[in-house]
Amino acid sequence: MSKALSVKKSFDEQILIQIGQPLYNQSLETIQVNVGLKCNQSCEHCHVSSSPKRKEVMDWPVMEKILEVAKETKCKLVDITGGAPELNPNLRKFISALSKQGQKVQVRTNLTVLLEPDQETMIEFFSDNKVKLVASLPCYLQENVDKQRGLGVYLASIEALKRLNKAGYGILPGLILDLVYNPLGSFLPPDQEKLEKTYKKELWEMHKIQFNQLLTITNMSIGRFSSDLRKQSKSNNYKELLENTFNTGTIDRLMCLSQIEVDWDGNLYDCDFNLALRLKVDKQVPQNIKDFDINLLKGRKIVTANHCFGCTAGRGSSCAGALA
Ligand code: SF4
Ligand code: SF4
Repeated sequence: MSKALSVKKSFDEQILIQIGQPLYNQSLETIQVNVGLKCNQSCEHCHVSSSPKRKEVMDWPVMEKILEVAKETKCKLVDITGGAPELNPNLRKFISALSKQGQKVQVRTNLTVLLEPDQETMIEFFSDNKVKLVASLPCYLQENVDKQRGLGVYLASIEALKRLNKAGYGILPGLILDLVYNPLGSFLPPDQEKLEKTYKKELWEMHKIQFNQLLTITNMSIGRFSSDLRKQSKSNNYKELLENTFNTGTIDRLMCLSQIEVDWDGNLYDCDFNLALRLKVDKQVPQNIKDFDINLLKGRKIVTANHCFGCTAGRGSSCAGALA
C-alpha cells in the first residue's frame, strides 16, 4: 500500500492561507542602511558572509541620497548595519549629518571593532550623537561566543562593553545599549524575557556589565550559516523546524512591513536577509535610492521566499528581536 506524502507548503502559500493575500509593505518607519560588508570578524553564522576581505563599501553620494530620503519621509529610525559599520570611512560624517537633521540613529556593532587601533574615539562619538547601539553577544559564556565568533572574541567584547558602560551606555537614559542573542546552532532562540534576566544576572555577577534590552534573533539559513548547515547535513532538519513552528501571530509584525533596506550601491530591498540573497524590491517599484519615490515604495508587494520562515518561526524574529 502506498503512503500519502505530506506536501509541505511554501512560505507564500502559508501567507495566502493565513491572510488571504501576499505581504504588502504598510509604512516606512525604518530605513536600514548596510554601509558595507567589510568586518574585522568572520563569524560562523554570518548571513551576509562578512569578513576582513570584503570590499563592498558605501560611498558618500549614496549616503547623501539617504539623508535626503530620511528627511523627506521623516522616518522614525535610521538603522545602520554591515559588516562592521565602523569600518566605513564616511560613517562619522553620515551620522553627524543625520543627527543634524534630527534623525534618530542606531548602529549595529560587533563590539570588538571598537578596540581596533583607529577606533579609540568611536564610543565618545556615538555618545555625543546619542546613537543607540545594538551589540552582538550570542552568549554570556566565553566558550560559546568564541566558538561562534572566533577565538578571543568574548574577552574583547567584554572589554568593549566595559568601555561602553564607562561612557554611560546601558546606564544613562539617552545612551541605549541593547544586546543581541542568536542561537549557537540549528535551534530556535529561547524566551527573550527569561533569557534577558539570565544575561543581566550573569553579566553583572561575572563582569559588572549593564545593558538595556536583550533581543533574540533566529539564525537564517543563508550565507555562512547555510553552508555550515549543509556541511553538517542539518539543512533539512532546520528547514523543517522553521516550517513546523510557523506562528501566525508574527505576521502583522514582520519588519518588512515597516522598513526598507539600502545597500552600499543604493539598491533597495525589503530587509537585510533579502539583501544577502540579492532579492531586490518588487520589480514594479524603484530599485535604487536614487529613484526613491515614497508613493511608489509604500504599499509595495514584499518579495518573499522560503527563507522568510526564519522570521515567523516560534516567537518570531526581526532585527528588533522576537515578534510575538
Ligand atoms: S556576524 Fe557581524 S561581526 Fe560576525 S562577520 Fe558578520 S557582520 Fe561581522
Ligand atoms: S526575510 Fe525579510 S522579507 Fe522575508 S519575512 Fe523576514 S523581513 Fe520579511
